[in-house]
Amino acid sequence: MSEVLLSVSNLKKSFGDQLVLDGLSFDVHKGEVIVVIGPSGCGKSTLLRCINALEPIQEGEVRLGDEVVNPGGKNLIELRQKIGMVFQSYDLFPHLTVLKNITLAPCKAQKRKKEEVEKEALALLDRVGLADRANSFPRELSGGQKQRVAIVRSLCVHPELLLFDEVTAALDPEMVREVLDVMLNLAAAGKTMMIVTHEMSFAKAIADRVLFIDEGHIVEDAPPEKFFVNPDTDRAKRFLETFEFKAVKHHEENAPL
Ligand code: ADP
Ligand code: MG
Repeated sequence: MSEVLLSVSNLKKSFGDQLVLDGLSFDVHKGEVIVVIGPSGCGKSTLLRCINALEPIQEGEVRLGDEVVNPGGKNLIELRQKIGMVFQSYDLFPHLTVLKNITLAPCKAQKRKKEEVEKEALALLDRVGLADRANSFPRELSGGQKQRVAIVRSLCVHPELLLFDEVTAALDPEMVREVLDVMLNLAAAGKTMMIVTHEMSFAKAIADRVLFIDEGHIVEDAPPEKFFVNPDTDRAKRFLETFEFKAVKHHEENAPL
């Protein structure tokens, strides 16, 4: 297997006296796609935030390559550029065009040449079907388009690891597909990604490994063929059943009378 890019060992994270992550350990190899699933409030977002040094941790260690991820560390600015994160709310600057939103960090933080960055940004926009939107403002775009811009913005910094936190959760159903397709293409291109999602068929299609988290622990760490078909634990079975039930219910509600 390829080399380890991200290594999380015995990660413990509390908010006050609430222990949210109780000693998580796992590695992510270069080129791997990890899908993180689990009940609401189990700490999925917190895990991604700890990996991206947005939260101090109480115990354990997060490493990216040779470097320790530490919100107080001296290497934080460089480290942040190695980890791209896309959230549910796109957080684009409303007063900047699509192109400016994308080129800001590479030009300012990475001090790369404007012409070179713009060329790359336009090529990336083209890849996500937004070549004609470079000069639009965020308010002129649909939710799905904004989310694709947010993904391009994080790609343009050339991160080694991409973190996606429920990036389709706020989108209208008809826009979910276009964003998931972009992520499927990134996976096919060999990007290393950790994805939090409730889209189970997408998770099945994209994951090399599924981490199922509940009550502060990794309850299952398995390839999707195993996790979705024959999980080891009752907790995972119950969790998956709630999704099947929803899918059936949705189908019934939409059935012709
Ligand atoms: P998930 O993303 O799996 O739904 P979160 O990581 O958002 O879960 O939250 C895990 C737990 O940590 C929840 O109980 C949540 O209320 C708590 N939590 C998250 N962020 C904070 C915070 N900044 N301050 C206090 N508690 C928090
Ligand atoms: Mg969350």
